[in-house]
Amino acid sequence: MKINLFGMPIIMHLWLHPLNFVIWFVEVLVAVFFVSGVIRHYQELYEYAFDEKNDRVRRIVARVLMPVLTIGLGMLLHFIGYSYPDTGMACHNLGLFLLVFPLIDVGINNWELAVRIAGIAAVWYMHHMLGLNRPQFAISVGLLLIGIVYMRINPQRIRQNLWASTVTFLYVALTFWLLIPPFSAPSQRGVIIFQAVVMYMAVTGIATFLWIREHRRAVHATEVERLASFDQLTNAANYNQYQADMANMFDEARADNRKLTMVSIDIDHFKQINDHYGHLAGNSVLIGVATTLDDELSQLPGKHKLYRTGGEEFAIAFADCDPDSVLDEMQSIWQQVQKAHYHYGDYDISVTISMGITALRPNDYSIDDLAKRADDNLYLSKHAGRDTITVEGETVHGNGERDLIATYAYFTQPIKPADGKGRYRNELLLRMFDQEHERWVLPEMFDISVQTQIDLMRRTLAQSSTRRIAINLTTAQFSDRNVANALVEFAQSKEGPDELSIEITDVPSLKVMRDIAAIYRAGQVLVEIDDVGSDNSFEVVNKLLPYADGVKFAMQNLRQTTTMESLHERIKFWVQVASEHQLDFVLEGVENKEEVDWAHDKLGIQHFQGYYFSKPFLPRL
Ligand code: GH3
Ligand code: MG
Ligand code: MG
Repeated sequence: MKINLFGMPIIMHLWLHPLNFVIWFVEVLVAVFFVSGVIRHYQELYEYAFDEKNDRVRRIVARVLMPVLTIGLGMLLHFIGYSYPDTGMACHNLGLFLLVFPLIDVGINNWELAVRIAGIAAVWYMHHMLGLNRPQFAISVGLLLIGIVYMRINPQRIRQNLWASTVTFLYVALTFWLLIPPFSAPSQRGVIIFQAVVMYMAVTGIATFLWIREHRRAVHATEVERLASFDQLTNAANYNQYQADMANMFDEARADNRKLTMVSIDIDHFKQINDHYGHLAGNSVLIGVATTLDDELSQLPGKHKLYRTGGEEFAIAFADCDPDSVLDEMQSIWQQVQKAHYHYGDYDISVTISMGITALRPNDYSIDDLAKRADDNLYLSKHAGRDTITVEGETVHGNGERDLIATYAYFTQPIKPADGKGRYRNELLLRMFDQEHERWVLPEMFDISVQTQIDLMRRTLAQSSTRRIAINLTTAQFSDRNVANALVEFAQSKEGPDELSIEITDVPSLKVMRDIAAIYRAGQVLVEIDDVGSDNSFEVVNKLLPYADGVKFAMQNLRQTTTMESLHERIKFWVQVASEHQLDFVLEGVENKEEVDWAHDKLGIQHFQGYYFSKPFLPRL
């Protein structure tokens, strides 16, 4: 059959003659190098199209280009082969290869497969167009179908294994060439078929070889990349990756004025796990926690990476989110870790985590500012007793309520007997964490809620062996019956202190003193008047003394303004007053041994507080 295409005569069937050996050899060479080039491009498209990291639209384009390249080029070569019989053997072999090779693509859908089958079917049909009623045609179609089914059953193996591919392509070559119609190889049919099959095998051999080699290289490169950016123990992204990603996220958020939230996570008391169960068990818990975190993260919309930023420290960043919008999810992750049991050998280990969450602020200069603030918040969680989440300085309780607990802490300063041995009681002194200057300062406002005070006491008690404590109340707090009732209830509870004292510096009215002191007294909570002899003169305090349990004389208030002699006189006076009212007496502000010895030996004072023994300090976590 002949048709005219743009004036070009096209004979629509194959018509070959044996090739001179040299020409045949040159055709083989050209075909092999042609295929080497095509296979590279095809593989590039293929790997791009199925790599989920790439942009979706571009991946679709790559997937469309794959059959365009192979089927398009394959068809074109066939037409050239039909038209110019001298090039027929090479053109048909290359065309055949280009149409058959895509049949072993992995990951394509049924439509894509249909397109590939249509391509080979069209060419097959054209080859046999003048001999459609020959039984060989039916046989060749049958064998081709068997070949396609086989290729679709195990495409991966054919791609990756030189033997499997050689057998498969030899089968295709023989099916195609042995059954070509007689007029396609009018003379010396055996030689033609032999030359064609060998050429085809050379082409497919080199293609598979290159494919396998490139694939191995890609796998190796991916592995090297993975090793460079993932932590080997936990499989979380490593610190390198963290730095690279964070710098990008920071720049993007800055450029487009978008939100960015950072979460720092640290396993609580992890050192104890290592100490108690051993380092390997620790590793196993670390892997377990990372897996829990990662599993939870993967359920969230969007892609979020878990980074291991230190030994038992992790971080997560959320682009386009503010802390409030990730809080629920972080709480759920936090609870999953709480619930989880990590197994190592016979051990069944539970851990908790603490988190710090913060948002990008306009004056953050670099990602370090953001990361540092996330760590500060994490530190506040640790300070709030661990197993908590702190968002921008506010600790979130399990029930989702927030308060300022993490911002405050009680420093402790011991009250001691003269010999300095043991402790009479600890005075708890409220301090506030100044985020900007990153240090503890005296709060501007002491009127924090009684609930926060109780939480803070609870925390202090958990960190200290001294169970006799004193706290200070403002006049407003002291005047409040609810405060008194709550403190009494706490003092009497099992987790409460063995002894609670209330110190008041600003003395209340007689009526308030009478009413409130009665509540404390009934609850065995002691009431002590602070700064007697300095801020609180005898005239002011005198009428309140019957309702008090103790007084505290603060030497430091008078040191600058009074001579030692008159200071001693005043102390003597107040020791006398205390003894008349049977009050506990604490001498505060002692700075050296002489003072303590004098007060103890001369005046019989038993309890001392001051820099000589200890400054107020934050109990160590
Ligand atoms: P906190 O609640 O304050 O975070 O206390 P912690 O004990 O968890 O914190 P600390 O920073 O004192 O101790 C962390 C420990 O984690 C010390 C270190 O030996 C251990 N660690 C760090 N990296 C690894 C690791 O890869 N495997 C194991 N098993 N332990 C690790
Ligand atoms: Mg830790
Ligand atoms: Mg740590």
